Amino acid sequence: MLRNSDGTWRVSQNHLVRTQPILSIHLDAASQFYSKISQHENVHVAQFTSGLFANYWAPATAYARVQSFTDTEDYRLLARVNADVTAYNQEQSALASPVMKTSGESQAYDVSDPIQPQFFYQRSCRPAFQEKVTS
Ligand SMILES: [Zn+2]
Repeated sequence: MLRNSDGTWRVSQNHLVRTQPILSIHLDAASQFYSKISQHENVHVAQFTSGLFANYWAPATAYARVQSFTDTEDYRLLARVNADVTAYNQEQSALASPVMKTSGESQAYDVSDPIQPQFFYQRSCRPAFQEKVTS
């Protein structure tokens, strides 16, 4: 943030960065399912780095929303920027969530399901099993 000649504060530079997903498997590495689950989760990591979700949570878009913000107090400007970035992140999550439930999980199961051993219930999160019941 920088102070203008009239004493007001403005946003001056984009410091927003998109963090990269980190693969975290909460399963003992000796488990017979470790490879199956890690490969499933690796698909999700790839979706966030270069796939389905690569254009979500875009720092340039978030910055464009706040770059014209000004305030007479620096702490209030910072609070407004933080609140808007939080809102942007929540909006992106709301947009990505249904895509994950359909295409995202499907892509990951396409990779992990053929890997042995099979789960008792394969593709248990698939939308086909969550279809709405209609009369
Ligand atoms: Zn998944």
